[in-house]
Amino acid sequence: MEKLIIIGSGPAGLTAAIYAARGGLNPLVVSGREAGGQLMLTTDVDDYPGFEEGIQGPDLMVKMRKQAERFATRFINEDVVSVDFSRRPFVVKTESLILNSNSLILSTGASAMWLGLASEQRLIGKGVSSCAVCDGFFFKDKNVIVVGGGDSAMREAAYLSKLCKKVTVVHRRDKLRAQVALQELVKSKKNVDFIWNSVIEEILGQEKVSGVKLKNTQTGEISQMQIDGVFIAIGHKPNTDFLKGQLDLDEKGYVVVENETHTKIPGVFVAGDMADYHYRQAVTAAGMGCKSAMDVEEYLENQKFGV
Ligand SMILES: Cc1cc2nc3c(=O)[nH]c(=O)nc-3n(C[C@H](O)[C@H](O)[C@H](O)COP(=O)(O)OP(=O)(O)OC[C@H]3O[C@@H](n4cnc5c(N)ncnc54)[C@H](O)[C@@H]3O)c2cc1C
Repeated sequence: MEKLIIIGSGPAGLTAAIYAARGGLNPLVVSGREAGGQLMLTTDVDDYPGFEEGIQGPDLMVKMRKQAERFATRFINEDVVSVDFSRRPFVVKTESLILNSNSLILSTGASAMWLGLASEQRLIGKGVSSCAVCDGFFFKDKNVIVVGGGDSAMREAAYLSKLCKKVTVVHRRDKLRAQVALQELVKSKKNVDFIWNSVIEEILGQEKVSGVKLKNTQTGEISQMQIDGVFIAIGHKPNTDFLKGQLDLDEKGYVVVENETHTKIPGVFVAGDMADYHYRQAVTAAGMGCKSAMDVEEYLENQKFGV
């Protein structure tokens, strides 16, 4: 029987673990098969405070995990397959174990959607990104492509237009899906242009991105374009499938949060990108992880004294 199980080991889950462990809750982290979360996919992280020269994403996550282990946090390196919130204690099933806990912090993050090209996967962190706020600065005064036609793509393009020499939005249709106001904002930028009815067939470059091969979806014509960076902005998917039927999720699958980190179920708290589709930064996920651990402490204390 656990006092606290934390599900997920990205910045949110590991920060929650550090605070909960130091608060005497002896947390158990079910880290997930992709332990360390999204930052394991990237190279330079330049915006996480405390690292004046920047830090590699995987190195940052190893440091966070070691910090949690220093306060005796325990880890199970498996995925959670299901949860039962209708019973007390809560029941958490992993791939090989059935666990019980008085409280839970959910921090399973979200996954960026990718095009699915081998060249794209090989070049993530080497010119291919899914986050303009995180990586835009590396492309200051350079030429980049944004792939997509929805709100996220327009937000990424608007952000990059302030840093980059030129931003080209590549969209597979001849119309954008984004809200009209966002479309207008991006279309008003002098350094943004659009390539319609086109998809990326291949991202070119060995050690870093040097260009793309484009295919026109109407004519089938293939062309090449030199480019320094490619931002894929076709959406994110929260990792919440295992929560369906147990917790309120919004239409895109994000956990509905009440009052900072609380869910509708007392004792079940949430942190990071699985609940926050707006900020999606390591530091904001970590901040929410801290809040969730403090909220759990308060919840368990109140339970003990019947408050
Ligand atoms: C390529 C890339 C570059 C980025 N660069 C930056 C940057 O420079 N600066 C910045 O601030 N942010 C950056 N981000 C965003 C940042 O990584 C995220 O905002 C942050 O990682 C979110 O933290 P999280 O803990 O909420 O979730 P995640 O990091 O997504 O971690 C989720 C965790 O939950 C686990 N999990 C998922 N499902 C289950 C399950 N069923 N059972 C158990 N565990 C599960 C996963 O294995 C993982 O450990 C980048 C993101 C990407 C993709």
